[in-house]
Amino acid sequence: MPSNPKISVITLGCSKNSVDSERLMNQLNLNKFDLTENPDEADSIVINTCGFIDSAKEESVNTILSAVELKKKGKLKKIIVAGCLSERYMEDLKKEIPEVDSYFGTEAYEEIVNAFGGDLKYELIGERHLTTPKHFTYLKISEGCDNPCSFCAIPLMRGLHKSKPMDQLIQETELLAAKGVKEINIIGQDTTDYGKESGKRNLAELLTKISIIDGIEWIRLLYAYPSHFPEDLIDEIAGNPKVCKYVDIPLQHISDNILKSMRRGITKRRTIELLNKLRERIPDITLRTTFIVGYPNEGEKEFAELCEFVKDIKFDRIGVFNYSLEENTPIYILGDPVLPEVKGERKAVLMNIQKEISQSKNESLIGRKMKVIIDSLDGNFFIGRTEKDAPEVDGEILIKNDNIKMRIGNFYDVEIYDCNEYDLFGKIVNSK
Ligand code: SF4
Repeated sequence: MPSNPKISVITLGCSKNSVDSERLMNQLNLNKFDLTENPDEADSIVINTCGFIDSAKEESVNTILSAVELKKKGKLKKIIVAGCLSERYMEDLKKEIPEVDSYFGTEAYEEIVNAFGGDLKYELIGERHLTTPKHFTYLKISEGCDNPCSFCAIPLMRGLHKSKPMDQLIQETELLAAKGVKEINIIGQDTTDYGKESGKRNLAELLTKISIIDGIEWIRLLYAYPSHFPEDLIDEIAGNPKVCKYVDIPLQHISDNILKSMRRGITKRRTIELLNKLRERIPDITLRTTFIVGYPNEGEKEFAELCEFVKDIKFDRIGVFNYSLEENTPIYILGDPVLPEVKGERKAVLMNIQKEISQSKNESLIGRKMKVIIDSLDGNFFIGRTEKDAPEVDGEILIKNDNIKMRIGNFYDVEIYDCNEYDLFGKIVNSK
């Protein structure tokens, strides 16, 4: 092992994995190890894998195999694999890809730092080496999940729900704000379960406390769960100017017999009641959701019901996943009867319905002045987002760079003058 390894941490999967990698990278920094974002420059690689669904597992395995090829060519001295795929399939991976030096599970910071000959700095575990542009990031408020969704393997990899202590999260956010972070995206497997260990879910209290931290301008709620959405959280989102009028609430489906089979703990009627309540109590709210198509007992009737629902509710943003058969999940016994091409067709149909909805919603914003944060400059355009756009998954706003002085990470008032189905075009009104 080189005395001072040059380490590259490769992160696959979701924003929760990114937060884990950032914690690890900070610990490697504290141990004076060299970090590089470019794997080609590294002599050691840590691959933080994803094991969620087939396509993600495939990407993880391919990334491991590419690293093994580099090692065979003598370009790499050490390969460490960690994260969800490794947590779930460690024994199989050890047998099938023995060229990897060490396999660890999720949140294995100490083991990985020790593997490089370093020591974990416990007192600084909340600190992170940011990998997002420094004005926005994610705050992972809990680990694991208590929900029994029949198709989901995440509890097998991340365990049961565990809220992070509130004082730790406030300290972490203060450190992030001191680094220039202005936008916090709240994440977890089920963020609405936050604090349940205390006998009362208290995400609203956490949002209040984060919102008074200097420098924090936007707080956005992702991964809310529909069946136990706290009332006080609705009031907090509606009443706190720093909390974005935005809720990401994966619904997965709407047909009652599928929701029952998915063990989502909610019905179509109660889902619609919740969405109506959110829209009534939080004016101009942006609703994002995700659906699964091709679930084992999804027939044409159930799929048609889902399409009607999407047409009726008119979500602002949707994501659609093809059902992925996952071992050891409760519904595995039903197999995967819906053909891949049928799943593909259903995904395309749903996304086309949404495309029209998104186009008309964007058109309704033309002429409006909106607060925008600038993420980047791409050629002739500054790329930004409004409160209605979560980073990396939603639309963007493009502002022509007519020699205007704009700074990445700053807020500006922008007037919308055009759009396409997903993005907006705006011109600066004044800087904030
Ligand atoms: S809420 Fe359901 S789908 Fe989401 S992580 Fe938990 S078990 Fe999986």
